[in-house]
Amino acid sequence: MKLLLVEDEKAMAEALKEILQKNNYSVDTCCDGEEGRDFALTALYDVIILDINLPKMDGITVLREIRTNDIGTPVILLTARDATKDKVNGLDSGADDYLTKPFKSDELLARIRALTRRNKEAVPNSNLIYGDIELNPHTLMLYTPSKNFQLTLKESQLMELLIANRNISVSKNTVIEKLWGYDSDVEDHNVEVYISFLRKKLKAANSKAIINTVRGVGYSLTTSDKEG
Ligand code: CA
Repeated sequence: MKLLLVEDEKAMAEALKEILQKNNYSVDTCCDGEEGRDFALTALYDVIILDINLPKMDGITVLREIRTNDIGTPVILLTARDATKDKVNGLDSGADDYLTKPFKSDELLARIRALTRRNKEAVPNSNLIYGDIELNPHTLMLYTPSKNFQLTLKESQLMELLIANRNISVSKNTVIEKLWGYDSDVEDHNVEVYISFLRKKLKAANSKAIINTVRGVGYSLTTSDKEG
């Protein structure tokens, strides 16, 4: 497992690197945003740990550039204490998780394991198919007849949940619990953002699959293709 750590506070970066290496991760470190972005764009990493307050380019901008370039590597943001706005911005920009400083290294290790577990359990030929779309939840690839997409981990988890509950509605609370966990302070708004990401992709692909809003409940995936 190869990790990228983008953190400008030298002492913290060194301490984290040591802990991660002790836990058998291979770690590259960058100490400013521009360098972090360039490393991230190589797509060589299993997880990126990204500080928000960085010289040259802030972490949120780095994250947006990574996602704009279709790099789906899971990203854990490191935020300053109580920076709620950062968390919301970060999740909206395609982060998979965040940790508030100061945090315990055990917690960081647990988050990394959660984000990489899926790949370890990867089973070939386990694509989920619904109507004209096909999702590989391990490679995070979404296939349609006209276009393929590299999803972020959260987008893939959300699509997996919708496919598993095809034709019935999934509540926003269920989405939050499945994607972020029971004790998360993620809000409905974050779910809406990921729903809109998926809708845009389905639309761009002219897919017959539709994510419907079920008023007062949540969402349901249906297809205009009767055989779906
Ligand atoms: Ca910093």
